[in-house]
Amino acid sequence: GLWSQMDPMELLSRSALSRNPANFWTRSEPIFREMSTAQPNPCHYALARLEEKGLIRGIVTQNIDSLHQLAGSKSVLEVHGHLRSAHCPGCGAHTDMRPLLDQVAKGDSPPRCSCGGVFRPDVVLFEDPLPDAFHVAWQWARVCDLLLVVGSSLEVAPVCWLVPAASRLAIINMGETQCDDMAEVLIRGKAGEILTDLVKEAEGLQRQP
Ligand SMILES: [Zn+2]
Repeated sequence: GLWSQMDPMELLSRSALSRNPANFWTRSEPIFREMSTAQPNPCHYALARLEEKGLIRGIVTQNIDSLHQLAGSKSVLEVHGHLRSAHCPGCGAHTDMRPLLDQVAKGDSPPRCSCGGVFRPDVVLFEDPLPDAFHVAWQWARVCDLLLVVGSSLEVAPVCWLVPAASRLAIINMGETQCDDMAEVLIRGKAGEILTDLVKEAEGLQRQP
């Protein structure tokens, strides 16, 4: 995908934005656009279904594509922010992302606020401080009955820091993770298939008297 053609750490950093805002927006526009037109997969739908059934209290995600909400999840903590909107660090004005992306695609970059400030997406950039959502996620991890890790190798901070906060851990992932030793349940495989089976199983159990 697009990420393989560039180093996201270099591109999507606070310093890249302040050093050359036009370049930041021009280079990230196709990436943001691709993310904001993506569609939920079976994994997103299964998680939404599990929440609807009362089996999941909330989702903590590092993704910025809003696909959990699109699939129907209600309780979502986006610890890396999202691409639905942008804000002006100068005056604090908020605006929808889509018109900004269209503007940049037409060659008008960087998009500016009426106060003259450069808009920045409401995502957590590299070199940004930890977002408030992370502190809430940590509280969730501390009090939950079970932390279910889905489709993450747990290599990326800060989400991997949540694992030690939880009293019980289950992991569904294709490959090994940093925390396999700590998991009570470890399932290797495609998260979409496994979660879809889990929904069916839960529906069977809930039908029983
Ligand atoms: Zn402004």
